Amino acid sequence: MATSLSERSPDSQSNLVVLNPATGEIVKTLPVCSRDEVLAAVERARKAQQEWGAKSFGERGRILLSVRDWMLDHREEVLDTIVSETGKPRIEALSTELIYCADLLTYYAGNAARFLRDQKRSPHLLLLKSKRAWISYVPYGVVGIISPWNFPLNMTLGDSAPALMAGNAVVIKPSEITPLTALLVERIYREVGAPEHLLQVMTGFGETGEALADAADMIAFTGSIATGRKIAERAARSLKPVSLELGGKDPMVVFADADLERAANAAVWGAMLNSGQVCQAVERVYVEDSIADRFTEMVVERVRKLRQGREDRLSSSPPATVDIGSMTSPRQIEIIERHLEDARQRGARVLVGGHRRADLPGIFFEPTVVTGADHSMSLMTEETFGPVIPIMRFRTEDEALAFANETRYGLSSSVWTRDRKRARRFARRIQAGNVCINDVIISYAVSDVPFGGVRDSGIGHRHAEKGIQKFCQIHSVVEERIGLKREPIWYPYSETSQRFLTRAMNFTFRRGWRRLTKE
Ligand code: NAD
Repeated sequence: MATSLSERSPDSQSNLVVLNPATGEIVKTLPVCSRDEVLAAVERARKAQQEWGAKSFGERGRILLSVRDWMLDHREEVLDTIVSETGKPRIEALSTELIYCADLLTYYAGNAARFLRDQKRSPHLLLLKSKRAWISYVPYGVVGIISPWNFPLNMTLGDSAPALMAGNAVVIKPSEITPLTALLVERIYREVGAPEHLLQVMTGFGETGEALADAADMIAFTGSIATGRKIAERAARSLKPVSLELGGKDPMVVFADADLERAANAAVWGAMLNSGQVCQAVERVYVEDSIADRFTEMVVERVRKLRQGREDRLSSSPPATVDIGSMTSPRQIEIIERHLEDARQRGARVLVGGHRRADLPGIFFEPTVVTGADHSMSLMTEETFGPVIPIMRFRTEDEALAFANETRYGLSSSVWTRDRKRARRFARRIQAGNVCINDVIISYAVSDVPFGGVRDSGIGHRHAEKGIQKFCQIHSVVEERIGLKREPIWYPYSETSQRFLTRAMNFTFRRGWRRLTKE
């Protein structure tokens, strides 16, 4: 059992039941951490941070790389844990969680020093030329990570990598639906010899998350817009920094000149990956009128071929026997059904799928394609987070752009055309934090560029230098080089200092002005 859990008081309730969503079986029962327990964990983290924050980037990086190596050495255990609480196909646990995290640990272990080194600035104002200045990145102290259930490794270990490399300690409140992977992460850090309590996991529901949001020095939240707002309001009370990675309703815009085969394959994978429970899933497909029928047929044909089922004990079996697994959250199935019912009533047609799988145990929803969708339907305006592809037609580029932008979300998007100029023009005008051209979802894996949402999809970024600098306070340091006994702007004010400042001002700005007007 994880350290933080074993240190809990004996009277703690044990009422968090983790289910395998592909079978409905109980995998584990865990305690719900109380507010006091969370506060105690944050205090322990504060102590651990003192030692950790004093280490060099090289020393911190070595711990992160040991974590990566542990996961590579114990690959099957990592995948088993993820699959047992999410119901996703094993190959997806490998591609979107383990490989992603192995890369992120490597990336931040290798680049943190470059991203966080002091940045020298030479003051541009003539009057300040005796100063030298630099920017320092200093860890906040204890970062609270509050995470969702769709990618339990990615959203816990992934987020903690830059936070730790920046010199913080981390306390994670994983989703109540998928806490086991986070507990494994806690165990891995302990096994590779990280300082005690550097990374702790507090299991529980919203109240446990609230306690963490109150106690930590900075909060990195990923989850729904509704919870994101609550956390932002809480953080505002203590003016605490917060980053919010929230939901999406990503548009995929397919022009008539696109490579239709690639686009159809991408639409199916982009919408069905992880049973559609991906913040960047393809949730709205807009297709140019002239190719809409052909494109829809191609999508339906591919969706019919998807193999759906359970794949949770396949370490020794042939790999990749299913394409689509179970849903992870039972609540999500009800949302999908509501969206589909509303779409049907407003005139949409379900071409394939549209129902729960009654023949399978657990919570499976058929991969579904819908045509005749429009913006009166919640299927096109609210995050569905399920294996559904709604298709709508457009006639012109401007119309496609208007459709794509008619949303409160702004996480990711994709545009499909062989005309690169049009694609790049479209990418600039679309209201989304991330745009893929002739590709889907992959911008998340390119950790060299920031990933984050606009509008209701969030505040702040993961990845690249922004994804680690957000875990730091910025200290701007200004140092005097010459050290006169008195600066001209200090007391006592005198006619001489006023004359000096006036001359300096005229010299600085009028000379510049004359030079500009001559040009
Ligand atoms: P959720 O908001 O219900 O829960 C997220 C986490 O917040 C959980 O750990 C939960 O216990 C905790 N929580 C709930 N109430 C809280 C409160 N009042 N204070 C503090 N913590 C609280 O989200 P979910 O259903 O677990 O996840 C699905 C959502 O996550 C989707 O909207 C999806 O788009 C989004 N998501 C976004 C990204 C991204 O990078 N933008 C990535 C993955 C998932």
